[in-house]
Amino acid sequence: MVNTLAKNQFETLNPATKKLLGTFSHMTKEEVNDQIDKAAAYSPAWKMVSAPERAGYLAKVADCMEKERKEWANLITEEAGKCTREAEGEVSRAITMLRFFSGEGFRMTGATIPSQQSNVHAFTKQQPLGTVGIITPWNVPLAIPIWKMAPAIVAGNTVVWKPANQTLLISQKLMETFEKAGLPEGTVKMVVGVGSLVGEALTSHPAIKAISFTGSNKTGLAINQAAAVRGIRFQAEMGGKNPMIILPDADLDLAVSDIIAGGLLDAGQRCSATSRVFVHDDVYEAVKERLVSRLENLKVGLPSNPDTQIGPVADQLQYDTIRRYIEIAKKEGGKLIFGGQEPNEDWFKQGYFIMPSVFENVTQDMTLAKEEVFGPVLAFMRFSDLEECLKQANSVHYGLSSSIYTNDLSKAYHYIENIESGLVHVNLPSAYSEPHMPFGGIKSTGIGGFREQGQQAIQFYTEWKTVFMKV
Ligand code: NAD
Repeated sequence: MVNTLAKNQFETLNPATKKLLGTFSHMTKEEVNDQIDKAAAYSPAWKMVSAPERAGYLAKVADCMEKERKEWANLITEEAGKCTREAEGEVSRAITMLRFFSGEGFRMTGATIPSQQSNVHAFTKQQPLGTVGIITPWNVPLAIPIWKMAPAIVAGNTVVWKPANQTLLISQKLMETFEKAGLPEGTVKMVVGVGSLVGEALTSHPAIKAISFTGSNKTGLAINQAAAVRGIRFQAEMGGKNPMIILPDADLDLAVSDIIAGGLLDAGQRCSATSRVFVHDDVYEAVKERLVSRLENLKVGLPSNPDTQIGPVADQLQYDTIRRYIEIAKKEGGKLIFGGQEPNEDWFKQGYFIMPSVFENVTQDMTLAKEEVFGPVLAFMRFSDLEECLKQANSVHYGLSSSIYTNDLSKAYHYIENIESGLVHVNLPSAYSEPHMPFGGIKSTGIGGFREQGQQAIQFYTEWKTVFMKV
């Protein structure tokens, strides 16, 4: 499936051990174009396969994945460094999404609208776009590709998929699973290589009718510009700087558990991870004390060990970036209430491990309050007035997720109305989502105005026709 020429080779590593897992070659622009041509050539035939039949293929992919749950989870642990529980969760999520979008194949409905003329029959119908480009990141290496490709496929599009280079064994296994499930050759073509080169090939190829991207803001904005030049549809889900607000009447134990669940699991490498915790003055010390005591018992370790709660970060670049943000936070006046001390053990030094770090004394002008770290690093801040806190929570340019902890319905509702984020939680962690619910950010997190997941995901991959038929 993957080009194995000896030129331009690169490697994927186990982030917990830095052990070599696989060697891949970058495709040339011609090779990428060739894959796009093949997906485009199959597009007219795939469009003519009925939506329920297309849905059947997704159900078969789900069945294949179900049979290999353990292998999938082990591979995600090995290549992406996720702890067993998170890896198993990602596999379940992918399977549920495949089943959900398989169901959507039976529900691709339009409307029959009464015409002004008695002999005209009028209705609307959704049609696929043709061939679409899908670009995915390493942090959710199975579920994100599925939540983009499943709606694209069931809606009748063929796909050219550019996975992240850090997780190519997972991507390769997914392509093999498509094959096992009998998905016709040409429905999905995978392209591998330097992001900018593949990105340029995807955006400039006339057969590509739309691009769906998840990743960093820098990359997303660059692809947005290239897509705009050709006037093609573009959707991007990008970074977050997600706030959590704790009011004095909150269940503090629940809130503290969810700081960890929402902010630190997966080593904080979730777009929807909590990264700013705003705690009301009245409960600030109580929350801080409980948090530190929970963190002292948190198990950082090899992700394959079932007891481990926090594993390594993804790669050298992630490791260096997160360490740099920790140093900046210290320099700018942040005070560590947890972190900074590393176990003097071989496993820790061998992999890309970073101890969770929580800073207090963080002010709104500090880098830690504004920029996405994408690691196990939290800003822990205090407030006295909810209105002022909402202003601070909304002061960043991101708008992905948020949460509030309170039992006061009117305050919760005020927050729901005024918080600037696409995902909004009350007494649930910011990273909480469900596979069949719309997912996405506002402000500079999301470009395109489309939502992923849920029924709404189909909209990006289809266009509407209004039909007038004289009978
Ligand atoms: P990234 O932007 O570096 O890479 C994402 C993908 O784009 C990779 O496949 C990469 O190879 C490719 N790429 C890089 N340069 C390209 C170019 N010029 N043209 C086309 N493709 C190119 O992001 P990352 O480091 O893989 O992912 C981390 C980021 O993703 C974080 O900012 C995180 O918040 C974000 N993310 C967002 C969501 C969401 O739904 N909002 C979900 C997961 C991750």
